[in-house]
Formats: sequence, C-alpha cells, structure tokens
Amino acid sequence: MRPVGAHLSIAGGLEKAAERLVKMGGNCLQVFSASPKSWELPTINGRLSAAVRPAFIHAKYLINLASDKPDLLAKSIASLKYDLQVADLIGAKGVIVHLGSHLGRGFKAVFQQVTESIEIILKNSNTNSLLIIENSAGQQGKLCSLITEIKLIFDAVNSSRLAWCLDTCHAFNAGYSIGSASGNGSIQNDIVNETARTDLVGRLACLHVNDSRDDFASGHDRHANLGEGKIGLKNLAEYVNHPQLKHLPLIIETPGFDKSGPDKKNLDILKSLCV
Ligand SMILES: [Zn+2]
Repeated sequence: MRPVGAHLSIAGGLEKAAERLVKMGGNCLQVFSASPKSWELPTINGRLSAAVRPAFIHAKYLINLASDKPDLLAKSIASLKYDLQVADLIGAKGVIVHLGSHLGRGFKAVFQQVTESIEIILKNSNTNSLLIIENSAGQQGKLCSLITEIKLIFDAVNSSRLAWCLDTCHAFNAGYSIGSASGNGSIQNDIVNETARTDLVGRLACLHVNDSRDDFASGHDRHANLGEGKIGLKNLAEYVNHPQLKHLPLIIETPGFDKSGPDKKNLDILKSLCV
C-alpha cells in the first residue's frame, strides 16, 4: 500500500501517536519533536515501528534561516541540527522545514546566508537524515513559495541529503494550480509541470495533501479538510495520482471535521482518491 498518513500530536509519547495513526488506517507519520512555537529542545524518545514508516519530523515554526538577527539564526541552525539527529534516533526519514522569511529584504539578499546555513546544518549533523524544504504559500517575504527559489537552493547546496516536500494548499495559494480544473488553467502554472520543468521531481520526499480555505493565489496559508476547500477532491485526485507523483508518501495536515486535527475521515477520503 502507498504510504498515506497524517501529522499527529506526540502528547502521550511517540508510541501513542504511532498507535493512533495505525488505528486511523495510516502507515506514514509526521510529528513535531517538541512544541513548534517554543525553542524548547525535543524530549521525544523511543523508536518508531515499521508500521508507521516513512516518518517525518516537522521543524519548529520559529525557524528563520533568513533572519538578520544573529541569535535567531543561531537558534534556527541549532534546532534543525538537533531535529536531524532526533530523526535518526527515532527512525524518521528527515526533517520538514519552512526556511523562514526575508522580511522584505528580498530572496537575493538572503540567499547566501540561507544556503550557507543549510550547508552548516548538513555538515554538523552527524546523520544521514534528510533536510526537507517545504514550499510556502506566497505570504509576504516567505522563502520558497516559488519553486524556482527551491531550485536555486538545491543547485547551490548540492547535497543528496537535501530534499523537499510539496504542500498542495501552499502551492495553490502561491499561484500554482493543483489538477487541471483549479487555478487559472494555464499549464505554465501547473505545479507538476513546474516541478518537472525545474527538474525537482526526483528530489521530492513526500507530499502534504491539504485543501485550501482561501481562493487561488491568495497568499494565505489556511488548510481545509479534503473536499471542503477551494481545491476540491477532483483536483486533489488528479494530483496524487499523477504518474510523476504516485509513488510519493502522502500526509494530511487538515483541521479535522470535528476541528481536532488530522482525522480518520480526512485520511479515508485521501485513500479513496488514490487509485
Ligand atoms: Zn504542510
């Protein structure tokens, strides 16, 4: 079976999260290693069973490799190094991260700092786990909303430990269509087309499958339950079954039909879309 799973809380321990995922019918897990909104270091321990792999750690939201504040940059680098090592210990494949925001200075102005920081992180984390860049939703200043920015980083860093994760909600809000009936219908704006054009298909580690509360190219990042958003099930089905993507693990980060986070109903919908 194709790896299909969810982002779940590790409250109660890693094993509990894995058990809940299996009970939901999933076989691929994403977790935070510690609170994503504080700099506290991970307290996560244990090792994930083969039933929930591949697994991924989602990095903290506070991280900003483009920050002009030296202490924030240092904390960001330390946190990612730590998470990469935790990934190795718990049996996760890698760490998924939003690289941060240039806060109006422009991508070019922060490019060297970002790529050098990534090189330091990879060099100083004694592990083989992947650093996985997630695309952003086109919000002001956020790095890697454009696939071409991800491409420039891959070309500059040139490491087999660098991978990326494509989030449907973020791509849609950044102005890429998901499936042929979404967005502006232009093939140039199709996310799979753009991924292939930039030669990044082979560097994808997983796909985040979320619907969008906001309209196409809104620049917002608000996830919706599958089928309740502006992308819709038909487009999501076309996307997850695309011949170039259909081998990739799928992870939901949906709000949940009872608003308590990724749930069995969303997972069942996703599984029903996969052919
Ligand atoms: Zn995501």
